[in-house]
Amino acid sequence: MARTPFIAGNWKMHKTVAEAEDHIQAFLPRVYSADGVDVAICVPYTDLQAMVDSTRGSRVEVFAQNMHEAPHGAFTGEISAPMLSEIDVHGVVLGHSERRQYFNETDKALSQKMVTAFDAGLKPILCVGETEEERERGDTERKLRHQVQEGLERLTPEQIAAVTVAYEPIWAIGTGRVATPEQAQEAIAFVRALIEDKAPAAAPLARVLYGGSVTPDNAPELLALPDVDGALVGGASLDPENLARIVDAAAQLVAAAAS
Ligand code: PEP
Repeated sequence: MARTPFIAGNWKMHKTVAEAEDHIQAFLPRVYSADGVDVAICVPYTDLQAMVDSTRGSRVEVFAQNMHEAPHGAFTGEISAPMLSEIDVHGVVLGHSERRQYFNETDKALSQKMVTAFDAGLKPILCVGETEEERERGDTERKLRHQVQEGLERLTPEQIAAVTVAYEPIWAIGTGRVATPEQAQEAIAFVRALIEDKAPAAAPLARVLYGGSVTPDNAPELLALPDVDGALVGGASLDPENLARIVDAAAQLVAAAAS
């Protein structure tokens, strides 16, 4: 792997603070020696402070699952990027398909969110991916082109080099229907080519993850694909042992590449 692999667990709307503490206390010792792998948990807002405190000094970073595009304002119920960075949150998931689908997240807002995240010192994970219908009508590349171009539109080449894009085919999220290695490699190579069009020098540094029904069993094959730099893991990340096994799979590839 040319880039440091990145495994991020997206807990979605799961885990109270007490449940989050149980998870992290089981997870941290399991990933203590996963050298060469970046690890994050993407947790509900109410868990952020506790997880930042519990992971301090470890390899595990803490990400939010969304934020508003404005730094402050009359947006009742929203959370801003400076509010996240103030409590030492490391990054934020932006444009998850569940937010696009259920909360009308738009590409226009996302384009601003990416800038706002960087301005606040947060690392964004930009999620992109096609529906089953779009794949069947041959529209996968058109959809990815639109989402990636809008998401990166307002970033500098230096920011693009620090971006993580997660390719998550919507039909694979939470369904148990993982993309085939060929489908994942093809789409992720296409995403990388789009990044290269926008910022040629930054493209080799930007990371592109696969997400969609990743499990400890299918992770080794997916993570070994040439253009895949890691995984965004939903359901399987709720169990600390499963998430740790996916991190192990990435660490084993790093070790094999170094030997
Ligand atoms: C996700 O939430 O981003 C995701 C990929 O979920 P799952 O792993 O459950 O498909």
